[in-house]
Amino acid sequence: MPEKDVLYHELLEALQAEGCAICRLARKASDSYVRALIYEGVTDVKLRETLRNARGLCHQHGWRTAGRRGSVLGAAIIYRDVINTLVKTLEGRSGGGPRLFGRGQPELSRALGGSEDCPACALERDAEGRAAKILLNHLGDAEIGATYRASGGLCLPHFQLVLGQGSQSAGNTLAEWQAEGWSRLRDQLDELIRKHDYRFRSEIVTDEEAEAWQRAIAAVTGEAEPAPET
Ligand SMILES: [Zn+2]
Ligand SMILES: [Zn+2]
Repeated sequence: MPEKDVLYHELLEALQAEGCAICRLARKASDSYVRALIYEGVTDVKLRETLRNARGLCHQHGWRTAGRRGSVLGAAIIYRDVINTLVKTLEGRSGGGPRLFGRGQPELSRALGGSEDCPACALERDAEGRAAKILLNHLGDAEIGATYRASGGLCLPHFQLVLGQGSQSAGNTLAEWQAEGWSRLRDQLDELIRKHDYRFRSEIVTDEEAEAWQRAIAAVTGEAEPAPET
């Protein structure tokens, strides 16, 4: 299958599940990195160097790694490297350099910080850009249109990303689809709120309405992090 077809089908599949398709594709990219990191990363010298320079993963991806089964040894080795680098940086400054804990140590602070971005975040950004491009290239595709509308659309940050890359007419099409999803969600929130009123307590809250508040948070900020593996 040509690469474009693979990406098209990946997008279609992601749109078929509930929630933002681009969040899902970005998660997939960082998940495979985290998996490789735990199982193979500890022996890969280049990868460990990148992680050392990045001072490990960001908060989100660091804790996602910790939540995976079998992460203990891999995380211990990777973070031993990072902590060792931090110790050496502190020790290096105690020689001829300025006083270690004096007022204001911008140089020391900079030296402690990373020189590279979180590699999992970088992979997510790449995946997001690719997905946005594929979506824009296939806006005329009936299946893409139907699944986008049924899914409720993208989260706000990813919708903005796609708008920023598309033409005005693409933006108009997307805005129409997205407005449908957000209006539906708003109506479900209205019902959820109304049925919380004691006068309407006897009315059944549907499953969709019951989850509307969480889907609203996801719609505005992006999909939630998965629960840790047990
Ligand atoms: Zn998203
Ligand atoms: Zn990250």
